[in-house]
Amino acid sequence: QHRPELVPPAADGPRPFDPALARRDFPILHQNVNGKPLIWLDNAATTQKPQAVIDRLVHFYAYENSNIHRAAHTLAARATDAYEAAREKVRRFLNAPSAKDIIFVRGATEGLNLLAQAYGRQHVGPGDEIVVTHLEHHANIVPWQQLATEKGARLRVVPVDDSGQIRLDAFQRLLGPKTKIVSITQVSNALGTVTPAREMVAIARRYGAATIVDGAQAVSHMPVDVQVLDADFYVFSGHKVFGPTGIGAVYGRAGVLETMQPWQGGGNMIADVTFERTVFQDAPERFEAGTGNIADAVGLGAALDYLAGIGMHNVAAHEHALIEYGTEALLSIPGLRLIGTAREKAGVLSFVLDGCATADVGKALASEGIAVRAGHHCAQPILRRFGVEATVRPSFALYNTFEDIDALVDVLRRLQSGRG
Ligand code: PLP
Repeated sequence: QHRPELVPPAADGPRPFDPALARRDFPILHQNVNGKPLIWLDNAATTQKPQAVIDRLVHFYAYENSNIHRAAHTLAARATDAYEAAREKVRRFLNAPSAKDIIFVRGATEGLNLLAQAYGRQHVGPGDEIVVTHLEHHANIVPWQQLATEKGARLRVVPVDDSGQIRLDAFQRLLGPKTKIVSITQVSNALGTVTPAREMVAIARRYGAATIVDGAQAVSHMPVDVQVLDADFYVFSGHKVFGPTGIGAVYGRAGVLETMQPWQGGGNMIADVTFERTVFQDAPERFEAGTGNIADAVGLGAALDYLAGIGMHNVAAHEHALIEYGTEALLSIPGLRLIGTAREKAGVLSFVLDGCATADVGKALASEGIAVRAGHHCAQPILRRFGVEATVRPSFALYNTFEDIDALVDVLRRLQSGRG
């Protein structure tokens, strides 16, 4: 099989990128599972953590742990500095204009719920329309469905073509004066489709709709620039970008955040409280009620530093080669049907194998130390669009190699020939 040449490292990484070297940074990858070296191809579900992130968490709890913003003592100052430094790292990662535009949340799911509650409830009324795409993760469907039910509004769905790419013509036809919110994924977690998010945002903005981009599956695969994307909001989860679980971020355009009311009340988000009324803090604090996930925010900052050291252009180039190589290799397996054949894909290959239940394929791979997801990937509507209830989904990250794909294909071939 032909192995594509790696694109030479781009100028944004201080050291040349070598996935085999990067792999050394991730201690979890150096173990046997079921008697075989672990091959982690379940990155769309969650990514593994480099030693730098693990060390940063340990350092926080060993030397800095305190609640933030309140007490006037040394550890409170250390913890606050570390937390706010992490916010600045998220700003830099997304190229947001200001760290005040970054709200820490538990993850993309909480971010989308925040937007449905804090923005949607204020701006969506009876008869209004919320537009999502057929590719969405349940996290970008259910909160809008709940809002639509509450408000008597309507959820509208942009169809995809047979390759799993957005139909821009149909998107344009869905928009109109009733469209209040357009919330779209940048990369599909089920098929890997990279959507024309920037173009869709530009079109939606012409109709005066608020625009939200779900970046959960994009951030670990490609450089993101929220100013180029030009959406009002961008959400992502830390654990999908080599950071801890339980932390994520919402970027919001400054002018829009200022108009939004808090969605949760409590400590930290207030400027002054009496029994008669509460004065809220400005953004982002007004959206961060209670004690947040301080250590994990700091850990996320370390993950973003790690990525800055590698350079997202290098990651994108490497993974592009993996997707091309993996697509060709999978298509060479008799009876394998690839679900999602869009020209632009990132991170994910999704397939079904003739005569083999997806759960059995998952188990066969697991017994060889290869971790993939087999199921509906929290995106049932798009799988049903392709006539399936489940797929097998190997998904890639910067530490995966061509050898990982060879090992995957080898097991699939054996399974297919009945010798698995
Ligand atoms: N959006 C997309 C596209 C996803 O892939 C996921 C997780 O798989 C989510 C949202 C939800 O992310 P989390 O479970 O981290 O909140």
